[in-house]
Amino acid sequence: MKTSRYDTLAAAKNWKPESNGTPAKMQITKIFGENALTLDDLKDRLPKDDWKGLKKTITEGAPLDIKVADSAAIAMKEWASERGATHYTHWFQPLTGATAEKHDSFITPNKGGGAVAEFSGKDLIQGEPDASSFPSGGLRPTFEARGYTAWDPTSPVFLIENDNGIYLCIPTAFASWKGEALDHKTPLLRSMDALDKQARRALKLFDVDTNRVFSTVGAEQEYFLVDQEFYYRRPDLMATGRTLVGAKPPRGQEMDDHYFGSISDRVLSYMLEVERELYRLGIPVKTRHNEVAPNQFELAPLFENANVSADHQQMIMSTLKKIAKKYGFECLLHEKPFDGLNGSGKHLNWSMSTSKGMNLLEPGDTPHDNMQFLFFFTATLRAVFKHQDLLRVSIASAGNDHRLGANEAPPAIISAYIGEQLEDIINQLLSGGLKDSMRSGLLGLGTPVLPELPKHAGDRNRTSPFAFTGNKFEFRAVASSQSVSFPTVVLNTIVCEAIDELCTELEGKLDSADFETALKEVLVDSLKETRTIVFNGDGYSQEWQDEAAKRGLLNLRTTPDALPYLTSKKNIDLFGKYRVLNELEVESRYEIWAEQYVTTLTIEVDTTEAIAKTMVYPAAVRYLNELADAVKKTADLGLKNSGATQMLERINSALNELGDSLANLEDVQSKLKADSTEEHCFEYKNEVIPAMNRVRDAVDLLERYSPDDYWPLPVYREMLFVK
Ligand code: ADP
Ligand code: MG
Repeated sequence: MKTSRYDTLAAAKNWKPESNGTPAKMQITKIFGENALTLDDLKDRLPKDDWKGLKKTITEGAPLDIKVADSAAIAMKEWASERGATHYTHWFQPLTGATAEKHDSFITPNKGGGAVAEFSGKDLIQGEPDASSFPSGGLRPTFEARGYTAWDPTSPVFLIENDNGIYLCIPTAFASWKGEALDHKTPLLRSMDALDKQARRALKLFDVDTNRVFSTVGAEQEYFLVDQEFYYRRPDLMATGRTLVGAKPPRGQEMDDHYFGSISDRVLSYMLEVERELYRLGIPVKTRHNEVAPNQFELAPLFENANVSADHQQMIMSTLKKIAKKYGFECLLHEKPFDGLNGSGKHLNWSMSTSKGMNLLEPGDTPHDNMQFLFFFTATLRAVFKHQDLLRVSIASAGNDHRLGANEAPPAIISAYIGEQLEDIINQLLSGGLKDSMRSGLLGLGTPVLPELPKHAGDRNRTSPFAFTGNKFEFRAVASSQSVSFPTVVLNTIVCEAIDELCTELEGKLDSADFETALKEVLVDSLKETRTIVFNGDGYSQEWQDEAAKRGLLNLRTTPDALPYLTSKKNIDLFGKYRVLNELEVESRYEIWAEQYVTTLTIEVDTTEAIAKTMVYPAAVRYLNELADAVKKTADLGLKNSGATQMLERINSALNELGDSLANLEDVQSKLKADSTEEHCFEYKNEVIPAMNRVRDAVDLLERYSPDDYWPLPVYREMLFVK
């Protein structure tokens, strides 16, 4: 066992891709969407009327006809069978945050002893997975374990390929037999309906008629890659997705040389294959680059309708993980795989668009005279102001607690960055007139050979959790491993409410004032109240913490602090009013997420203990023994042995501390006594986490002193710098 870490290192270093020596040529337009059945494909395969019916459902949210479902089922089965698929699955998103599927074969035996492929509208529309093992937060006691999956016609079906077979995935919603949402998709679709209704009501006031308003989402995904050789030697990475012990390497991200650096061949091969697979699934991935920390990367798709984008985001995460193994990597989506290095997030870009593609948050060149934009912009700020708590809840998890407020990600305080130009416009509006928009002009680079670049009206601010970036808001505090659905549900619902309130006020004034005057009054009233949510400065600074406290903004630092807000009366009323989640559904989510927090930490504690006791302790004792021998022998020989003695004392005291910290951790756990979920979370936060961190500190100290060849775990410098 002694030298095996070096074998691991050698194997990782020597990894070679299979290559035939010529670059693979990819024709994106040819392969794009070949593994997804798009609306265009369906048009060719459906009778005209059925296609029209389906299109109405997809683009306008019209109810689905069973006759249409039947002919869609036939078209899907044919399309999938032509491509070699044998099975289908209702693919859904339970509240674990992962995706789930149960496969059924198309094959039905016939009387003649043969078999035929069958798939009906009924099979397409509804499935009944054995649902008792998915979290329901008390919504569905196991004695009534029925759960149903229901086809979501607004998200394209797609194929998953394996070397030995292919199957058809049908995006579905997942609900209890009473119709309560047990998943992420159902409330997302409901929130999109609610937003659509209010946004169209507002647009009517601006004389814009549209069939449908969608929220749009584009989520940038950060991730780490580590060589599998290392991964499988780290029980912590395997069990929890993050390193629970590990001393900081002498060189981390200080040199800033990884960010946007050139991408290594092995990583690039991996990214290219990921992208090819995503293109084939019809997912429009666009950007790839290195991120700030070593071995950290980012991938970003183009934005799409929020529901499709949320499905695609799940497919992106699973594709990243799946393909990594082919390149000898493990893809880590955890928010904080390595202590002392930047963690990973997901930037959720969000806006609203009409079905014809009019972006409601597009300010144009002169936002001061774009009243429609100012209306939706004001509504969004109002929403963020009124529901800071919900936005914070929507991103709360044990993993994300490591990032938020740690000077690498936005603080736990929710505020909005809007840039100089819009700040100026708000000031003009509040002081009685809208005269002009600050122009940004052209950026000269000081030499005529370089072109002049148009300057953006607002600079970037990486420290804001919610930043206006030109024509959309970017919610930057979202966690890298989470589904984008719930944060999107929250955005849709709170902005829906704000639009509703502004419309009501505006409509009430229209009898006595002209539209423009009434509108300005409404916007001014709202901004007066809500502009304290705007903050354009440095979100990482202590001044902001102080300032935010003065402004009375919430600062919910951790998951146990944030989660209880989910079930406040304000929030239950909000979700109830717009029929996004009923009270039971809200409460069950609280239970599930609080339980997930505790479970995550329990696994972390158990794994930390196991590593400390079975890997670190033995290595340190072996070394202690050797040192004790050396001290004794040198003394016998009458040699000066202060070096060996000092090291012996150090190792001995570090080992004592390891023993004490482990005893303390056990003690803390044995004394946990909370009987409510909320108290239980706080016990973990206030008592268990510090006790676990104390064990980590003891282990990390031993790592610094122990002989390299005794150390049983791959260390940070190996995991982070081998690519
Ligand atoms: P950056 O964040 O680096 O400025 P981009 O401006 O290219 O990058 O956009 C980042 C993400 O925002 C991409 O996923 C992009 O598709 C998405 N995005 C752009 N416009 C919108 C929009 N109207 N609604 C939602 N997402 C959008
Ligand atoms: Mg971004």
